[in-house]
Amino acid sequence: MEVPLILTQFLDHAVKLYGDKKAIIGDERVFTYREMNERVNQLSDGLRKLGVKKGDRVAFLAPNTLEMLEGFYGVFQLGAVMVPLNIRLKPEDYLYILNHSGSKVLFVDQDLYNLILTIKEKLETVEEIIVHYYDGSCDEVNYDEFLEAHSKETFHREALEETDVCSLLYTSGTTGNPKGVMLTHRNNYLHALTCMHHLRVTDDDVLAHVLPMFHVNGWGSPFYYTANGATQVCLRKATPKSIFDAVEKHGVTVMHMAPTVLNSLLQHYDEHPQEMKQNTRVFIAGSAPPTAFVNRVEDELGWEFIQVYGMTESSPLSTISRIRTHFKDFSREEQSRLKAKAGYQMIGTDVKVVNDFGEEVAWNGKEIGELIVRGNGVMKGYWKNEEATMEAIRDGWLYTGDMAVVDEYGTVGIVDRKKDVIISGGENISSIEVEGVLYDHPAILEAAVIAVPHEKWGETPHAYVVLRSGQNAAEEELIQFTRDKLAHFKAITGVTFVDELPKNASGKILKVQLRNEYWESVGKAERFV
Ligand code: ATP
Ligand code: MG
Repeated sequence: MEVPLILTQFLDHAVKLYGDKKAIIGDERVFTYREMNERVNQLSDGLRKLGVKKGDRVAFLAPNTLEMLEGFYGVFQLGAVMVPLNIRLKPEDYLYILNHSGSKVLFVDQDLYNLILTIKEKLETVEEIIVHYYDGSCDEVNYDEFLEAHSKETFHREALEETDVCSLLYTSGTTGNPKGVMLTHRNNYLHALTCMHHLRVTDDDVLAHVLPMFHVNGWGSPFYYTANGATQVCLRKATPKSIFDAVEKHGVTVMHMAPTVLNSLLQHYDEHPQEMKQNTRVFIAGSAPPTAFVNRVEDELGWEFIQVYGMTESSPLSTISRIRTHFKDFSREEQSRLKAKAGYQMIGTDVKVVNDFGEEVAWNGKEIGELIVRGNGVMKGYWKNEEATMEAIRDGWLYTGDMAVVDEYGTVGIVDRKKDVIISGGENISSIEVEGVLYDHPAILEAAVIAVPHEKWGETPHAYVVLRSGQNAAEEELIQFTRDKLAHFKAITGVTFVDELPKNASGKILKVQLRNEYWESVGKAERFV
């Protein structure tokens, strides 16, 4: 008989093969796979007694904790749907998502409980709130007591179809309101197998959860690292110190993070000079890293740098930049250039870059089109949003909204989000390309380039810049710096110096916010996108 592609199978597999191995470490506590499984059974049993049934939504508002990780499997055993909430939203956003998803139970970390208190009365469907790390300060259910009150014995699971929805993941909201992405067991299961292969996950791996688990990149990893019996270290806060400490203390071999987090590690490296494990690999996702990062990561941190590209709607990963064997003879410079790209398609996924007429662009690294994706990971659709689903998935292809080129090796290079492209005098300018140049300037710590209005050209590139501490650079100097390195129409024409850039919970710079603020400040109506 076939083994159904249901995610609970991953934990079963780990318990059977790696029962006494360290499974999860978080907040100074450690559980083996057997112990984790018992806690998961207690959780499922408790939820069933609360009346949670197959298809019901269960929400989680927590940073990367072991309670969050066991929550996945506890919910899946019931055939219920996991709704992870981004911890950096505002109470009104939680109200929207909890009501929109119709969540029945909400798990919340004690540190975040106040965010819920103000909206509690307006929650339409939540019947129970259960608090992780309960300190007695609120009138809700204590998670630890909840587990203790229920059975560790094998849980009798609901019968499920592979195509049943297992998660409702709201997108990052980088470009607008978050949308609820429905992913199925089959989506996540096959995506996990793909990742096991391309990310070369083994039972020797020690993963530090740096990317938030409530975000889709962090979301996929609890499946493939669990299935392989790897050890997972949950970092409640991902600071340079907590990351370096975890690498040193637990011998972390693998991490997934956003370029902005990687940048902060590079900044703080001198302050935390520890013995680094040389075979640590770091997967960079979420936005394009400047090429300069690649060599620094390899030389200064001694880690392997691999870029991946994906989006919530595709479970998420579609491409990977790990160097293929036939590239091994390339110069270091050429290899770094390839690693700084999104990469080539992963197995089980078809990626294509198409022009406005739907034709595939030439593989010449020049012709720009929209990246479209087809494959095992592509979502079932947006929750309660037929229209957006039909717009996103056409003829079985997911339209990513990302503009890209393909080189002669089939390597995809993300040019920009459609919405971030700057259109100046009819020319399209990639904000990512201009940022890449700015990152080469020694005084610049972070940069974001956006379109601002221009009388003659319609739009022009403008940079928001955070300088390194103790460093200085004048606006004119930075403008000239980009003019020296880029075609003149791509050069920035102005700079706003700021102490920090607005970012979302996964570390992405919110260019839409910068744009809105700028356009408002010059009295212009909102930009066309
Ligand atoms: P929303 O859809 O709500 O505006 P979002 O698109 O940021 O938010 P996610 O699904 O978390 O939500 O992010 C996917 C997007 O992140 C991709 O469409 C792409 O723009 C960007 N991205 C992901 N990986 C990379 C990468 N390696 N290089 C460049 N961009 C990337
Ligand atoms: Mg998106």
